[in-house]
Amino acid sequence: MKIVLMVNDQKSCNIDCGHCYLPYAGNRSPEDTLEAVINLKAQGHDVIIAGSETLVDTGYLEAYMEAGQDYLLTNGILLNHKPELFDLIEEHGIKTIQISAHFGIDKELKSVPISLVGKVATEAKYRGFDVRLATTITSKNYHDVENMCGLAYGMGADELKFIRMIQSGKAEADNENSLTQENINMFFDYVTRTRAKYDKDEFRISMHGNFGPRPGSAGESLSLRNGYCPASDGLVAIAPDGVVYGCPFLMNIPIGRYVEGRLDMKSIFQDRLACLAK
Ligand code: SF4
Repeated sequence: MKIVLMVNDQKSCNIDCGHCYLPYAGNRSPEDTLEAVINLKAQGHDVIIAGSETLVDTGYLEAYMEAGQDYLLTNGILLNHKPELFDLIEEHGIKTIQISAHFGIDKELKSVPISLVGKVATEAKYRGFDVRLATTITSKNYHDVENMCGLAYGMGADELKFIRMIQSGKAEADNENSLTQENINMFFDYVTRTRAKYDKDEFRISMHGNFGPRPGSAGESLSLRNGYCPASDGLVAIAPDGVVYGCPFLMNIPIGRYVEGRLDMKSIFQDRLACLAK
């Protein structure tokens, strides 16, 4: 099972993005996180560490190393303020840095300024990291794919990953910014056309599975077999309080608990044709 250990909440983050999808409160200490990684790995699970900005407590880096996780998801603020952190994360096995870069909506979301993202991306590239930018896609920027890719490429990024905005956490009631299926279909076309302009060995354009199955893709054949969404069937997320969910984007439907080092859960999702997250 792939297990996403969510270790810290939105309140412990060093920024307050308007669309933050994290719905839970509380943190799991670095020590408890390391112990959980050791326990779960010993049971044959793959463990991924995530949360809000985990770099606010560098104690978590021990658990990254234990989990064999060589990438870090970050908003880049601390890396910009304390460049010595680049050396520390490298010492803990981090090779890829994924920086949130909400092109076209950063101001509206009160998220990380794109100018800061550019500085951190360039510095990370200079220091030899693989640089991936991650952009949340909403009804406001889904049509601007070519420009966003041009900006990311210009910052020296190796990859731009698009993630659909999820109505969870602070965005739970945000119907205005969420994508319609028609938006998503057009977005797929924009991505396909923009990909043709880049050599994928030089610059990759990727999409999170939460957009749902794209026509003609491997995802579509999974969908046809009712096997697109892996929530609770190969994938789970554990909140800091031990409650288990099918996926980090489905943390409104508890399916079990992580108790005394073991998962006690049930797979409840029948319909796996597309992404179950709203
Ligand atoms: S709900 Fe399913 S398809 Fe959607 S992001 Fe989660 S695991 Fe992936």
